[in-house]
Amino acid sequence: MKKPTIAVVGAGAAGIIAAWRAATLGAAVTLYEKTPRVGTKIMISGGGKCNLTHDGPTEDVLRAFRPNEAQFLRPSLYRFGAEDFLEILTSRGLAIYTRPDGRIFPVYQNAKDVVQLLIGLLREVGVTVRLEEPVTGLDAGGVRLRGRVEPADSVIVATGGSSYPNSGTTGDGWRWIAELGHSIVPLRAALAPIYLHQNDIPGLALRDVLLKARTTKEIAKWRGDLLFTHQGISGPSALGVSRDVAEAMESAEVTLSIDSRPDETFESLSGRLIRASRDNPHHLVASRLDLPERFRERVLTSAAIPLDQRMKALERKARNRLIENIKGLPLGRVRAVPLEKGEVVAGGVSLAEVDAKTMRSRIVPNLILCGEVLDIAGPVGGYNLQAAWSTGYVAGNTAALQSVE
Ligand SMILES: Cc1cc2nc3c(=O)[nH]c(=O)nc-3n(C[C@H](O)[C@H](O)[C@H](O)COP(=O)(O)OP(=O)(O)OC[C@H]3O[C@@H](n4cnc5c(N)ncnc54)[C@H](O)[C@@H]3O)c2cc1C
Repeated sequence: MKKPTIAVVGAGAAGIIAAWRAATLGAAVTLYEKTPRVGTKIMISGGGKCNLTHDGPTEDVLRAFRPNEAQFLRPSLYRFGAEDFLEILTSRGLAIYTRPDGRIFPVYQNAKDVVQLLIGLLREVGVTVRLEEPVTGLDAGGVRLRGRVEPADSVIVATGGSSYPNSGTTGDGWRWIAELGHSIVPLRAALAPIYLHQNDIPGLALRDVLLKARTTKEIAKWRGDLLFTHQGISGPSALGVSRDVAEAMESAEVTLSIDSRPDETFESLSGRLIRASRDNPHHLVASRLDLPERFRERVLTSAAIPLDQRMKALERKARNRLIENIKGLPLGRVRAVPLEKGEVVAGGVSLAEVDAKTMRSRIVPNLILCGEVLDIAGPVGGYNLQAAWSTGYVAGNTAALQSVE
């Protein structure tokens, strides 16, 4: 009996697992990748360490996504969740560890080794990998490649998003899929750095602060580390609010502020400063603030308190201004959230037009979609790769079984 033929477009996380799963079920699979490498984006994931997935019960993992995304992902995460994926890697020798915050990484190896392992998986089941082979479009009977059509019984599109375009993801899939009648939810930056109009402390890093974003009301907040860059801010807190900020900026001005003492109340800080004025009246106010030097100076300046002010001269009004700035240092207006610098892109193929149980297009026969090409963008923490592994697995399964139906 002739093996079903499947074309998988994009050798990223979703495409690799889709191709592997379909070939495991006996299909003849060709994986087309436009860059010279398999797993280009996996290589740069987690700063080269690859945050493979997130620990915890599936419902907790789902809760990290927006409600409509969680609903869409539920069937595939239950079909092929973090444990199933990790079992494949650990049974082939990858040692993993879970950080206290639930993020799972390889212990000794890095993202490159993960990719090598995934390449090994593709070899095990005989997937044909065609590198530097950009697909230029979709055809009723297969995929278009620089002027010719290569036939396939089913096509899986796993072309990813459009951030980090140098890694091969330039939004190609969306163009073809839109031409075939799908709606593409408008694209927005997510997990991206935030550019500000002003930043005078580039290079400064803060640990465990609460970053807040607001228009006329608070729109997002994220607690974690934060880094000041030449253009604005980056690091987990900035990435954490970036999607909401990018959305809100379309219709309003967004401003940011930092609570550098998120566990302390206004009253407890006030009490501490009053005691310090009484016990150490000759100390500099700056020396009583347990904050990195450059940040401390910024807080004092913003509170209109001279850097050489002594505790004994800290009047009630100045003390209150100081606390307001410790609990909410204004960073000013957001200038931009650069989509191309995001770890993922929000938006993509509308989830309403894809069957969550099979990843089949509800609009185009024999078209299957998986990974970031879909309108899914989870937070930092291994969630996005897990969404790609899970939807990729279901896509491969569907393609192999559909082709022999
Ligand atoms: C810097 C960075 C760090 C990240 N770190 C993490 C992390 O630690 N943990 C985590 O969970 N997520 C992380 N992410 C997000 C994660 O990498 C993505 O969510 C995930 O890779 C999406 O998988 P995908 O298979 O859908 O797309 P991709 O992995 O982007 O793969 C798509 C592939 O399709 C190929 N392609 C595109 N167009 C064509 C075409 N026309 N023809 C042929 N091939 C084509 C591309 O070259 C690419 O290889 C990170 C992202 C970035 C940018």
